[in-house]
Amino acid sequence: MTSVFDELVGQEHITDILKGAVSASRTGSESQEMTHAWVFTGPPGSGRSSAAVAFAQALICSKQGCGACNECQSAATGGHPDVEVVRTEGLSIKVEEIRELLTRVAWAPSMGGWRVVVMEDADRLTESAANALLKAIEEPGTRTVWLLCAPTLHDVLPTIRSRCRHLQLRTPSIDAVTRVLIKRDNISPTMAEFAARVSQGHIGRAKYLATNESVRSNRKVIMKLPLQLGSLAAAFQAAQTLVGIATEEAKASSESRDENEIEKLQEAYGKGATGRGVATGAAKAVKELEKEQKSRATRMVRDSIDGALLDLATFYRDVMMVKSGAADSMINSDMRTEIKDYAPHISTHSAVQKMSAIMEARNQLAINAAPLVTCEALMCELARR
Ligand SMILES: [Zn+2]
Repeated sequence: MTSVFDELVGQEHITDILKGAVSASRTGSESQEMTHAWVFTGPPGSGRSSAAVAFAQALICSKQGCGACNECQSAATGGHPDVEVVRTEGLSIKVEEIRELLTRVAWAPSMGGWRVVVMEDADRLTESAANALLKAIEEPGTRTVWLLCAPTLHDVLPTIRSRCRHLQLRTPSIDAVTRVLIKRDNISPTMAEFAARVSQGHIGRAKYLATNESVRSNRKVIMKLPLQLGSLAAAFQAAQTLVGIATEEAKASSESRDENEIEKLQEAYGKGATGRGVATGAAKAVKELEKEQKSRATRMVRDSIDGALLDLATFYRDVMMVKSGAADSMINSDMRTEIKDYAPHISTHSAVQKMSAIMEARNQLAINAAPLVTCEALMCELARR
């Protein structure tokens, strides 16, 4: 029998725990196996939220997560009354949003089993939001199961994480990601292997890259930036290129989504409907949505720059591999010649320094530093011999 847990790539170490919890949950009461608060942590792309959603499906499905029934499917697409997936569009989750959520989930589950809340970015909870959530988690005897997702346990407030059961996801191996791309997405073996390798186990990114020609050519431009840092002017130009490409990519993926959402919202209000009340209500809702979309766009640009910087770091990682005689374990196999030619020009120490400069720039961006200025400073650092 197929199970929603089969879809989780490279996470065999936690599926038994989840299956055990699902079996235990059938008694309807809390137990050692089935607790009502969980934290899923793992690096980006490891599939934290996919694991949490699979668990939610299994909890409400009569066949413990078949993936095919109405329950399973509506849970995955956000249409199930007892499963709520909270996705953050902004940079933080505010206390008002948590209060609203708590009102929504205050009723008993409609189907009689469990009500499940999946929170994708629990690391973005503000302190007051986290405290509001804590109260709900502490409440005994509720039928709500909380599935919080975050990059690491440190990103979750200690008071919350001490009440949750913790599951750590692994970065799936390149082989595992390759197999999924071939089997699930019908991608050719050569392309699948390339995309899995350069995405370093990030399944979503690998698929995006494998199925998108323009993303692949953008990546190539970014990966060649280190070869073009001959002068200060070139460094500034490189920063401009990187931010430009990242912004363009984020825009492309958010624009069609934005339009779709506005259309849906207008439909919900009855597009073209007259009556002053309806019209003002719709206009106000559209305005709210546009505000949300704007803050999401900002976040997507930042995420996109972060992705580009991670790619860039692999360039210097590969330089180090070449210098230590391990050219075979290069990530960027498509740039073998360029990287081999470049390697003799810098010392290992300098390659390490450049990698940490990239990581430092990522930290800066994570705390909201201005993207272009941060990238300019970084490129000047990378340009130093
Ligand atoms: Zn099912």
